[in-house]
Amino acid sequence: MKERLVELKEEALNKVAEAEDAKQLQEVRVAYLGKKGPITEVLRGMGKLSKEERPVIGQLANEVRETIAGEIETKQQQLEKVALEKQLKEEALDVTLPGRPNPTGGPHLLTKLIEDIEDLFIGMGFEVAEGPEVEQDYYNFEALNLPKGHPARDMQDSFYITEELLMRTHTSPVQARTMEKHEGKGPVKIICPGKVYRRDTDDATHSHQFTQIEGLYVDENVRMSDLKGVLNAFAKQMFGQSREIRLRPSFFPFTEPSVEMDISCKMCHGDGCSVCKGTGWIEILGAGMVHPNVLRMAGFDPEKYSGFAFGMGPERIAMLKYGIDDIRHFYTNDVRFLKQFHHA
Ligand SMILES: [Zn+2]
Repeated sequence: MKERLVELKEEALNKVAEAEDAKQLQEVRVAYLGKKGPITEVLRGMGKLSKEERPVIGQLANEVRETIAGEIETKQQQLEKVALEKQLKEEALDVTLPGRPNPTGGPHLLTKLIEDIEDLFIGMGFEVAEGPEVEQDYYNFEALNLPKGHPARDMQDSFYITEELLMRTHTSPVQARTMEKHEGKGPVKIICPGKVYRRDTDDATHSHQFTQIEGLYVDENVRMSDLKGVLNAFAKQMFGQSREIRLRPSFFPFTEPSVEMDISCKMCHGDGCSVCKGTGWIEILGAGMVHPNVLRMAGFDPEKYSGFAFGMGPERIAMLKYGIDDIRHFYTNDVRFLKQFHHA
């Protein structure tokens, strides 16, 4: 019986050593220490032993059990440690791997330019005003001294939705709407950026949809010299301190007198080159003193109030500023083109 117990111990310890995982170890535990195991069986046969032998075998059997249980415990801890190490190794991050770049977008060149222009005028005391892109004929034309049948309406071929509704052809209706809200009381000092629409055939310099920024300043004693001062400050901040401006007489139905503003050519400084078509000057925007009819339509007394207005195309300014040769680049959304201006 003694030999049998020693034999069982050896056998069990070998199996514990061979166990490769928790499951196999549990099988060893059940096989040798369980109620139906061989050691229990040995103990059951103790009744046949003599009084002297019984405690000796009993003690030995207990020792064998404890030894096996102890080894199983030790082995279990070993296996857990190995499993943990394996898991840690598998989950480890390789910090030397190159990262995956997250492609990021940026504001569109025109969005950025419009914001810059807004900032510039806000610095001169203007507020930003907005209005609807689907506009009433009244605000788009009539309130701006362009009654129905006026020949100058043909200058702005329009997308009509109904007889009275159209896609606005300029941002000037925002000026009319804002003046109306002021109920005849100045000052009104706003810039109106936004999208405008015209029936044009798209080519390198024309588009059926483009953006505009218009400005309006109405108050008592606003003079042409105020207009020139504001435009000069704008041109120098936008294009550089060395640039000069000049005003040429022009015609717009909503201003009287009307002017075109040119800036001196950056390439030739006024001598004439291919960029300025030999003139030394580049046309930037249209402006003028608000027509008394426009003031009157918006509820302002032209005897008391005067004002100036100007309008420019951000596309044209961006084309001049960055040397872009085709207006369609702004809308075809080729990422290779747009990306160049993310940090402009
Ligand atoms: Zn030039």
